[in-house]
Amino acid sequence: MAGAGRGASVSLTDLEKSYDRVAAVAGVSLDIRSGEFLTLLGPSGSGKTTTLMMIAGFEMPTAGDIAIDAKSVVAMPPYRRNIGMVFQNYALFPHLTVAENIGFPLKQRGVAKAERAKLVGEALELVHLPGYGERYPRQLSGGQQQRVALARAIVFKPRLLLMDEPLGALDKQLRENLQLEMRRLHADLGITFIYVTHDQEEALTMSDRIAVMNEGLVAQVGRPEDLYDRPSSRFVAGFIGESNFLPAIVRGIEDDVVVAECDGALLRALCPGRMSPSPLAAGEKVMLTTRPERLRFADGAWHSPSSSGAPQNRLSVTVTEAVFAGERCRYMLQAGDGTAMVLKEPSSAAIRRRAVGEQAEIAWSVADTILV
Ligand code: ADP
Ligand code: MG
Repeated sequence: MAGAGRGASVSLTDLEKSYDRVAAVAGVSLDIRSGEFLTLLGPSGSGKTTTLMMIAGFEMPTAGDIAIDAKSVVAMPPYRRNIGMVFQNYALFPHLTVAENIGFPLKQRGVAKAERAKLVGEALELVHLPGYGERYPRQLSGGQQQRVALARAIVFKPRLLLMDEPLGALDKQLRENLQLEMRRLHADLGITFIYVTHDQEEALTMSDRIAVMNEGLVAQVGRPEDLYDRPSSRFVAGFIGESNFLPAIVRGIEDDVVVAECDGALLRALCPGRMSPSPLAAGEKVMLTTRPERLRFADGAWHSPSSSGAPQNRLSVTVTEAVFAGERCRYMLQAGDGTAMVLKEPSSAAIRRRAVGEQAEIAWSVADTILV
């Protein structure tokens, strides 16, 4: 692995933070590997910032432990943890030049002037702002200011960089550019990044792994594709990407597959959220989930890559809405029991478009059906 060892490892153990008996963080355990790009993803109020502030040392845990490189840092003041930080509001000093802003943490650490100038120059190169040292923050765009904040956070060569919604104030195009730059910077530096966002697309694009947070707890940790393909709960399935939810009743277990009845049809599903499907009892009410782009019309010309040979689920539906959206057609469907579903099909002049009111049979792979 490139850069292994240059980044700090971080272990959170049963970490809690309460304010007046309200738990902002309610017991988080998470191991972040050396050199990893890990994102804390969750809705507003789920405890992301509080978790980050405890790692940085600006908030004291109510309970639990934080270890950096296997050493507890709970009693260590923030400046001694040697962690870089970037916040949403750039927090640059307005009366200092760019070079002075970036040099500030070096000055605090007693680095001599000549060395400071060299390190500031290198940091400016890294964030693609060479020659901007003599400007003032007000003379820079929002994106450029955020690059300066990033340079200031890495100039003293920390082994861990924490970022709290750093792109939140920028427009979409700029955000996407900076997302790619952030990944490149992570690869170049080889240090550990812990990144906070509520934006699932941003998390999927940038992260090695994502910890999904909900109500002060980690709901699931995994690689982006693990979370998207194998959500372990209804919350994760609904928060990451678009999902269909089908209420069903358990009818049996076949090895690691659950057989459940939905609107009179027997559907098969995987249940990655449980160690094994065996605790499920016949007659139990469950929820199945599947992605809109994994469904297809059974009699259609378009066959998803997973449709050949792999075990399929099938369901009869009525088309209730049909929207042509350029690269895709998006259909709203309704099963006989009233369950609404979305199907997304790649658009092609060779594929017949469905009309509202039309009856259809849809099919999708058992591997794309998850019990949550
Ligand atoms: P996020 O960053 O995911 O939006 P936060 O960590 O900021 O979430 O907050 C988690 C919860 O803790 C929220 O309900 C918030 O209102 C509460 N909280 C955060 N900081 C404080 C504080 N200083 N005093 C009281 N409650 C707080
Ligand atoms: Mg926050």
